[in-house]
Amino acid sequence: MRRAFTALVLACGGLAGCGGGAPARPNLVLIVLDTARADHFSCQGYARPTTPHVDALAARGVRFSEARSVAPWTLPAHMSMFSGLLPRDHGATWAAFSEPESAPLRELVAREFAPADPGRMLGARLAAAGYQCLGFSPNPWVARSKGFAQGFAAFHELWRDEERAAFAPAAPADALDSTLSGATVRGVAAALEARDEERPFFLFVNLLDPHFPYEPPEPYRARLGGTAAGVARVLEGGRRTELAMIAGASPFTPDELVPLYDGELATADHFVGVLVAALERAGVLDDTLVAVTSDHGELLGEEGLWSHQRSVADELLHVPLVLKLPGDARAGTVSDDPLASNLDVYATLLAAAGLVPPAGPSRDLCAPSPAARELLVGEYDTSRAYLRQLAGVNTAFDPEREPRALHQLYTAGWRTLCVSHEPQHTVPRTPSAPGDPSAEMTRAGELLREWLAARDASAAVRAGALRDDAAAREGLEDLGYVGDDGADEDGR
Ligand SMILES: [Zn+2]
Repeated sequence: MRRAFTALVLACGGLAGCGGGAPARPNLVLIVLDTARADHFSCQGYARPTTPHVDALAARGVRFSEARSVAPWTLPAHMSMFSGLLPRDHGATWAAFSEPESAPLRELVAREFAPADPGRMLGARLAAAGYQCLGFSPNPWVARSKGFAQGFAAFHELWRDEERAAFAPAAPADALDSTLSGATVRGVAAALEARDEERPFFLFVNLLDPHFPYEPPEPYRARLGGTAAGVARVLEGGRRTELAMIAGASPFTPDELVPLYDGELATADHFVGVLVAALERAGVLDDTLVAVTSDHGELLGEEGLWSHQRSVADELLHVPLVLKLPGDARAGTVSDDPLASNLDVYATLLAAAGLVPPAGPSRDLCAPSPAARELLVGEYDTSRAYLRQLAGVNTAFDPEREPRALHQLYTAGWRTLCVSHEPQHTVPRTPSAPGDPSAEMTRAGELLREWLAARDASAAVRAGALRDDAAAREGLEDLGYVGDDGADEDGR
């Protein structure tokens, strides 16, 4: 298994080799399919035709089949891609939205988050090097107020009615046209048209379709086996349904939801196709590095869990990662690097722009000799205010029994789940993985203790100022992060 990875590294032969005959400063595009789990992509072996457009990009570039995220939910995972830092070091985790404990969650999540080193952010670095940075986020966690817009000439927050309206069609051509992603890709097309053609650009796009509530538009609902009745049932309970599911009380079975989730994944993939076509129409696709990944996956009933909180299960951390390089270099290559990560997008994009990435754990995946990585850690913390919300929608949910920290350690041969810093179990990553679980558990404990000790306290939690950002709060409510007021205020 290692042989294929080594072959890729040697074949890349440095940035020039990786980029082929590409221009010195290619355009850069980062497409994040929010909540898209790797094992539901057809190019990753899924049996259903969910992702033909991502598959086509993979055929023109490099697909990292074993990439993992370092966090199971939106905010820390995106911040790691944008800062090249681990959640423990950038601090954009639940811990930043947890105090004071008495505050209602809806106020906490509307807080601003300020990166400790704004100049380190992806947009800031690229803008300083002359790139035009254009951002499109329909996810209110990936917001200007959370520090993501550093360096961006425009960072569109599409959950805001007025910003989305700017890209809404006068008369939608079909159901796809009316979606949030429909507005997003129209905005991108307009931005590409209006860009300064003398300078390279960095385009960031989040496509939110696979996030609950699953309501895939046609033709993808029917194509992936979903029904109108199924969608109606999903929408019936509103945002409270997802909170209840996260709290362990799902009214659905996996059989009911998987076709709808797959329909949403196919919808996001459709819009990847629209974006690629827009790049082609603008005549820039060949000169562009297109990275497609996800921030995290989704639990669809595994071990009784749903959505993407309260867990660092592999279904949440295994993410797609495809790099279509300028000039279609390395077309059709598959890397099974077991410790590749979407965290590496940061250094890979900076290096492709000819910049030296700042010190940190992010690796340039196109470097001739990527920095050694002994382990990769996915981490999750929690917020008492959030746990109170969950208890408010499911009386059987006991916040006191909830672990305060979860870690998933990945080494080349094993993955090891740790609950509150103690190893719980190990699973071989390949059937032929060497070693035995007990020895690996002991080693995992040592590695985790070293890893935690190396935490950079100076870059840890940044307390944000409370402010009433009504649009952000409402957007997060729509995503299911905040339930009804009663659950929050009665202190359960
Ligand atoms: Zn997300």
